[in-house]
Amino acid sequence: MTSDEQFEQLRAQMVRDQLQDRDIHDARLLQVMLEIPRHAFVPPEFRDQAYADGPLPIGDGQTISQPYVVAVMTQELHLLGAERVLEIGTGSGYQTAVLCRLARYVYSIERSAWLAEHAAETLSSLGFDNVDLHIGDGSQGLPDMAPFNAIIVTAAAPSLPGPLCTQLDPHGGRMVIPVGDHRQQTLQRVTREGDQWHVEQVMAVKFVPLRGRYGFTKKDG
Ligand code: SAH
Repeated sequence: MTSDEQFEQLRAQMVRDQLQDRDIHDARLLQVMLEIPRHAFVPPEFRDQAYADGPLPIGDGQTISQPYVVAVMTQELHLLGAERVLEIGTGSGYQTAVLCRLARYVYSIERSAWLAEHAAETLSSLGFDNVDLHIGDGSQGLPDMAPFNAIIVTAAAPSLPGPLCTQLDPHGGRMVIPVGDHRQQTLQRVTREGDQWHVEQVMAVKFVPLRGRYGFTKKDG
């Protein structure tokens, strides 16, 4: 059994070795990742690995992302605190918790009802209340709640989903999303100014597939 104190030490080590010693410099983000108990989002059998430098299984064939990948994606959103954020792929709810601390309000969509219910329980038990969780196909976004200052997609898409691009705030809305095939993807950062979408490549990543209408469909495997 790992005690709260040991978890705290492991978390500080994670922030130093996996984030600060690489290229994560957003001070608010580092502080938030130092404070959020990542182990609370991991199934009991993997809890002692919660602060390791990799993804972990969370059930339903899905994974909680590697801490460094959570940090890079969040840092690329340049959150200052007043934003309305849309997240696709709630999964464990860990990334959701990080967003809740850095932005004003978070809408998060998860396709698996089982995962969404678990994430809702974890988030509410830790006191996160600036979040609205939805069960459904996130590749279509949430048109009724748009526009969003920031959108984060934590599953891999075959191409940029049109509805998500149009739900970005026309005044500097930004989205991070892995785009590619099943084996490997590139993390892309899309910035909107009016009717212009500017796309930058951030780094190579590997995510589970985004399923659904603007994601991978059954025939893609
Ligand atoms: N950010 C999560 C990552 C979970 S893995 C975490 O760190 O825990 C990606 C998640 O995307 C999975 O839970 C999967 O069920 C979900 N997903 C896949 N396609 C989806 C879709 N179209 N809409 C919503 N969620 C989707």
